[in-house]
Amino acid sequence: MSDITAIAAFKDNYIWCLRQAKLALIVDPGDATAVLQHLQLHQLQLAVILITHHHPDHTGGIKELKQLWPDAVVYAPALEQDKIPYADVWLEDKDQIELADFNLSFQVMQLPGHTLGHIAYYSAPVLFCGDTLFNAGCGRLFEGTAAQMWQSLSRILTLPDQTLIYATHEYTLANLEFARWADPDNTELANYQHWCQQQRELQQPTLPTPLAVQRQINPFLRAEDVGLQHRWQQHNAVDLFTALRSAKDRF
Ligand SMILES: [Zn+2]
Repeated sequence: MSDITAIAAFKDNYIWCLRQAKLALIVDPGDATAVLQHLQLHQLQLAVILITHHHPDHTGGIKELKQLWPDAVVYAPALEQDKIPYADVWLEDKDQIELADFNLSFQVMQLPGHTLGHIAYYSAPVLFCGDTLFNAGCGRLFEGTAAQMWQSLSRILTLPDQTLIYATHEYTLANLEFARWADPDNTELANYQHWCQQQRELQQPTLPTPLAVQRQINPFLRAEDVGLQHRWQQHNAVDLFTALRSAKDRF
């Protein structure tokens, strides 16, 4: 896999830039200025834009980038066609994108919950998952139901352990506060929180994060854990996920 770097934008967004020689693929450019600075600094040509969902902090830079790089191809979820202007290719679940210039192909995963049309892009071991899964947390339910989001996270859980989660927000420390409160018996969490605090003190991202780590420390991915269900007095994964998500909203 080519190298992937985080372009920081707004307060806590990451716009991912995958480069292959002098070509750049950009994921969720909410802010054109941040992207253009990065492209100039590294003398890159914008070739591809991948959009996961319609929120402005993921799409706000598309128009300006397309004006400057009219040949760049913008991929976006078909179900959000009316909310994402300037896209070129509309994608549905299980579509395959072939990017010959990058020597890459991505599989599209429809992951409703945060928004109804939300998609992720998977090219092993990389998962660009937008606002579905975060380090130690998951996206808010703006449009979908808790059951839909649990279904989406369950699909991510079918991917291999070494999958790298490229989420689009640095919410990790706040998420870990909730995780430690929600899952106090989880001994992995304390060590992991310490590591994340060190990363942030060094102003380094806590992303990407391996799925194997998230399986251990992310309470939203542990909804099938019988011990955690017992602690929360819930009897199945959907109910525990629903309880966790609603507790996090109020935390
Ligand atoms: Zn969003």
